[in-house]
Amino acid sequence: MDPNQQLRALDARFAAARAEGAPIACVAGCNFCCHQRVGIFPFEALALYRHLRTQQSPAQAAAISQRILDNARRIDALTADEHRRANLACAFLQDGRCSAYAVRPQACAAYHSTSRERCEHAFTHPDDMGTPANSRPVLLELQMYAATLRETTQAALESAGFPASQGELHQLLRALIEDDAAGPG
Ligand code: SF4
Repeated sequence: MDPNQQLRALDARFAAARAEGAPIACVAGCNFCCHQRVGIFPFEALALYRHLRTQQSPAQAAAISQRILDNARRIDALTADEHRRANLACAFLQDGRCSAYAVRPQACAAYHSTSRERCEHAFTHPDDMGTPANSRPVLLELQMYAATLRETTQAALESAGFPASQGELHQLLRALIEDDAAGPG
């Protein structure tokens, strides 16, 4: 399975929607959604880790790795709902942008909104989570496309015998960092 295939498909679909005039509010540098809980597949964690090890400077890689470990430790102590309300910046967020954009997970590539104001409200009012006050307006067609892609990915992983359960981004990355540190067993 090409790990970037789904990401390319999503990016192409979003680019086509924008070209057709879809009112997607997302722009580079807007990162409210990069403070949310993100579920990723194990192969996506590997892609992020490989990017971290090969595409970042040693200093940046060390800083991101430390943020991954710090975030994972904080998340360990939170329920999923508490994490969703915590506005914890993703460890890959660097100067307001995703430092791993080329290999960002499907969940990140699929996330979108037609209202920056609503995203900002959700960010500044985390206690409104689950209420209409911080619901995010999306484009149904893109939402459904992303959901189908996620299900297809999961089914393909399962039928190929690969790990197919999603996990929290920082916790999966921490496992890879710790495996690497432990060396060949
Ligand atoms: S991986 Fe990148 S796009 Fe996804 S939450 Fe982290 S910084 Fe944002």
